[in-house]
Amino acid sequence: MSATFEAVVVGGGIVGLATARALLVDRPTASVLLLEKEQHLASHQSGRNSGVIHSGLYYRPGSAKAALVARGRVLLEEFCERHGIAREYCGKVVVATSVPELARLSRLDELAQAHGLPTRRLDGEELREIEPHAAGIAALHLPGTGIVDYGTVANRLADEIRHLGGEIHLGQRVERVATKGGVVEVTAGDHLWRTTHVVNCAGLHADRVARLSGPVDVRITPFRGEYYELRPEARSLVRGLIYPVPDPAFPFLGVHFTRSIHGGVHAGPNAVLALSREGYSWRDVSLRDIAEMAGDPGLRRLARRYWRTGTGEVWRSLSRRAFARALRRLVPDITINDLVPAAAGVRAQALRPDGTLVEDFEFAGDDSVTHVLNAPSPAATASLAIGERIAARVPR
Ligand SMILES: Cc1cc2nc3c(=O)[nH]c(=O)nc-3n(C[C@H](O)[C@H](O)[C@H](O)COP(=O)(O)OP(=O)(O)OC[C@H]3O[C@@H](n4cnc5c(N)ncnc54)[C@H](O)[C@@H]3O)c2cc1C
Repeated sequence: MSATFEAVVVGGGIVGLATARALLVDRPTASVLLLEKEQHLASHQSGRNSGVIHSGLYYRPGSAKAALVARGRVLLEEFCERHGIAREYCGKVVVATSVPELARLSRLDELAQAHGLPTRRLDGEELREIEPHAAGIAALHLPGTGIVDYGTVANRLADEIRHLGGEIHLGQRVERVATKGGVVEVTAGDHLWRTTHVVNCAGLHADRVARLSGPVDVRITPFRGEYYELRPEARSLVRGLIYPVPDPAFPFLGVHFTRSIHGGVHAGPNAVLALSREGYSWRDVSLRDIAEMAGDPGLRRLARRYWRTGTGEVWRSLSRRAFARALRRLVPDITINDLVPAAAGVRAQALRPDGTLVEDFEFAGDDSVTHVLNAPSPAATASLAIGERIAARVPR
């Protein structure tokens, strides 16, 4: 089979879907095809996350993350309104539980001001008016942080793509991308499509799909985030979103509590190196992925820097008691019996050969291909803005 499209998007997660939709909105007569290797859209990161509509607190002013999360929030709200998608701006508190954290909380407050985010600094008593069971000597309240089901958003994006004349083919794993005289051939199994531009939104496989058409200097490192769900009797311990002050020595936010739009409360995610790109438990092991990681000088450098924190994360992964202890710093009334294991997610985090984690969103490419090489959190919040930005990069 061979057909020609003006753009082919690889990856049916929220970023690929938002990109395909933005291309169709931007150029209504264009033919756009989206290829997804799974039988369902949003099977990986986009369907396995915390569901938080981030405010954009943590990102460096001037970064792509800061700009795209701000624009993405606005577009997401419009999109949800148009499709009647449930979302709730329940607010978030970032809680300082010790004196050394107070200075870090103040720096976060300054960052929030720099981003123009509405915030309120709270003392312990004011914190407990918002979250009666939270421990903490001070907190930062971000009332604009919300929750949504990104899997639902992804599926409504797919509806719009089809409505706008785009095609979505499931069960198609892209294995070859070859450019010949301005035409790009994309192959999955026995199927071949021709296009003038490929957009690679392959998430946990973005570096591999990128290497099909040329070298890239980053490698995706899969960090699993494990969650517990609170038993229904314990849900009243959490009203909205309760986060710790992030540890500057650690690239992730630390375990926290998130209320889900479906009514439950999740605790987590932690961050452990997954033994497979789509490794949702310790039993999911890929020898290819392990061999690649073992040979990756960047990962060895990263491991040397973070071995202590990493060991703590592994311990919390193996011991529910240790996980509960970490959670009790934020909500002391939580007990181990309140926690039920829930589905995990795996973050696609790009790593450079020198061992630095790519901090910002990263896009690369040329006239015939665009790669989304790093789109971790808050890329679900920012997805519609990322789609807009990529559509603007694709030559007409
Ligand atoms: C635990 C966790 C919690 C998070 N919490 C939040 C949050 O609260 N708020 C927020 O904004 N963000 C959050 N994120 C981040 C957010 O989920 C991701 O940034 C976002 O979903 C990335 O979307 P994506 O489309 O790039 O990737 P994905 O959703 O992973 O989609 C990539 C798709 O590409 C497909 N694919 C891969 N290779 C091929 C191939 N060769 N051929 C065809 N298809 C291919 C995959 O099957 C997959 O469906 C979280 C992420 C995780 C893991």
